[in-house]
Amino acid sequence: QAKLHGKGQVCEFAAGMDADLRERHDLELDLRGALSRGELTIYYQPLFSSAGKITAFEALARWPHPERGMIPPDRFIPLAEETGLIVPLGEWVLRKACTVAATWSSDISIAVNLSPTQFQRIDLVEMVSSVLKETGLEPCRLELEVTESLLMEDMEKALALVTDLRKRGVRVALDDFGTGYSSLAYLHNFPFDKVKVDRTFINKITNDPNAWTIVESIIVMSHKLKLRVTAEGIETGAQLSLLQGHGCDEMQGFLLGRPMPETDASRMAENESKTARKDHITVVQDI
Ligand code: C2E
Ligand code: MG
Ligand code: MG
Ligand code: MG
Repeated sequence: QAKLHGKGQVCEFAAGMDADLRERHDLELDLRGALSRGELTIYYQPLFSSAGKITAFEALARWPHPERGMIPPDRFIPLAEETGLIVPLGEWVLRKACTVAATWSSDISIAVNLSPTQFQRIDLVEMVSSVLKETGLEPCRLELEVTESLLMEDMEKALALVTDLRKRGVRVALDDFGTGYSSLAYLHNFPFDKVKVDRTFINKITNDPNAWTIVESIIVMSHKLKLRVTAEGIETGAQLSLLQGHGCDEMQGFLLGRPMPETDASRMAENESKTARKDHITVVQDI
């Protein structure tokens, strides 16, 4: 009886796995096709200084699927990483984002996420350098976001990568800090420009004193280490003012701006540079 029952479970499990595998396989084929047909797109989410000026936009990949609707990156980036498709996909995102940012007549930066698989498989410094050269974007306007999982693969190689990128004028941020291992050794050993505190922490800071203690300490510690701090996932005014009041350098979140299509982001970037010019003129006239 028990044996029969067990067998049934195995069959059910196998059938379930089959469906999952098929689904994944279909999705992989779709993604490969979408990538080669140029059907992927990028949304851009603004980042703000604590004074409220746009400092950068983060490029976030989107997949408008003809039948499944807009597929978020959490669904297809892991698949792209497993299948190696992240290599052409990541290069496409970087090239497209740099091309778009190069058209903005302002010093607003563009932030692009890098994946551990790209780091494993290709020479990222070479790839980034050639994209910058091709698109004409000043290196100082590019910020690359890496996670601890990339650094963990091969610390020495990762250190060489971050050091090399910085030598070329590209900024590097440690993304999703506060999740995973959040090893202090990474902050100590790598020449990052910036730490991005993960939103799972930010969304707790106004109702969980321990979460706030941790975030506040990350801000203090980062500043002592000469790192700038960005808070991601700000959704309420209370979270924003708490962070502003404690010296957080940069803010990102749905409260301030959602990821948006290229045309909207470009319009926002242009308006920002016009306002900046106007401010400048006003100051000059006042004198
Ligand atoms: P991430 O790099 O940590 O990007 C921030 C994510 O938080 C984005 O999700 C953004 O939409 C979301 N977010 C920002 N503010 C808020 C908020 O106030 N509330 C909430 N609930 N969410 C907020 P998204 O666009 O779904 O991207 C998810 C992740 O997918 C990214 O996390 C990044 O790790 C990865 N990803 C996206 N595009 C790329 C890419 O081109 N290459 C690589 N390697 N990874 C990418
Ligand atoms: Mg990011
Ligand atoms: Mg992040
Ligand atoms: Mg995150």
